[in-house]
Amino acid sequence: MTLAQSVLAGYDRIERWQEDLYRDLHRHPELSMEERRTCDVVAHHLAEWGYEVQRIGGGVVGTLARGEGPTVLFRADMDALPVQEATGLAYASAAPGVMHACGHDVHVACALGAARLLAESNAPWAGTYVALFQPGEETAAGAASMLDDGLTDLVPAPAVALGQHVLSGEAGTVATAPGPVLSAGDSIRITVFGDGSHGAMPHLGVDPVVLASSIVMRLQTVVAREIAPGDFGVVTVGSIRAGTKSNIIPDTAELLVNVRTYADSVRITVLDAIERIVRGECATAGSPNPPVFEYYDQFPLTDNDEATTSRISEAFARHFGEDRVQRMEPVPASEDFSRIPDAWGAPYAYWGLGGFAPDQRVVANHNPAFAPTMQPTLRTGTEAAVVAALAHLAG
Ligand code: ZN
Ligand code: ZN
Repeated sequence: MTLAQSVLAGYDRIERWQEDLYRDLHRHPELSMEERRTCDVVAHHLAEWGYEVQRIGGGVVGTLARGEGPTVLFRADMDALPVQEATGLAYASAAPGVMHACGHDVHVACALGAARLLAESNAPWAGTYVALFQPGEETAAGAASMLDDGLTDLVPAPAVALGQHVLSGEAGTVATAPGPVLSAGDSIRITVFGDGSHGAMPHLGVDPVVLASSIVMRLQTVVAREIAPGDFGVVTVGSIRAGTKSNIIPDTAELLVNVRTYADSVRITVLDAIERIVRGECATAGSPNPPVFEYYDQFPLTDNDEATTSRISEAFARHFGEDRVQRMEPVPASEDFSRIPDAWGAPYAYWGLGGFAPDQRVVANHNPAFAPTMQPTLRTGTEAAVVAALAHLAG
């Protein structure tokens, strides 16, 4: 019996408890940076199993030291979304307009399950296991808030950091790959200035609606004309707002732009091109003031370490069998997970966890009907966390 098999032999004993825990978390979702109840549940359990518990920057960290060996950090995010649930589940959200529509309740349940099995097992693993529960992933504020509150001084430096996300793959499978697996994400609020006038006297003003429109069109050339055909980038203008009435030329227009990239060099090229184009269009329009750029919801690249990922892939294949371990295609979604290992310069690996039964309608994360099947998702996510951690802890 491998070390992982002997730790996971305890799963049957915690299965009912974990499912009840999951239902409870799903029923009580909390928005980003407001995860007080979830933190209490997490902290209570970690303390119960003998973890040293710390509250750091809106999150919770449990540390379990078991003699000489490497430190392994496993991270779960805890926040829900401002979505009105439409799953029809018996344990659907009790909070109006708030829902675990990204499956972070799955992450918390699996991370607690793994923490419990590692603590309660007599199997001879050695080292330090750090179970980290972060707030505010959806707004990119949570990892930063834990770092700002002194995470790297309060927790032993990990030799490796691990994280997972439930996605639309088949339940019972995991998927990972070396290199970039999740994109960097940047949101920009751009304000451009016109000169207000009567709608019937456009020659007396500068029209920011026309200016904003030409910016939207010209931004389409960034990906098409400025980055190499083999590189990946997305530039989306998700919102454009100006004016109040058909016969008034307004003073300003606001554009909300979202950018996704898989390489820092491409990211810089795209952001520079956006600023250059906006400034150029403003000059062309005779705008009276320079445009204002406000960056927000910025997510770093998730770029899996080669050696860490291959070690985990091999351990997954041994444990789950080759057919349940898939290659993760890069996903144009973003995460703030990597900020945590990056703060120590630690290598990391991140993987996708399948959440849907073969006969189930697959619904994307963030959809009001997002409802991963409870099993084998919880079991697989718990096993994946334990297997990946033990691939690095001492035997
Ligand atoms: Zn999400
Ligand atoms: Zn998520």
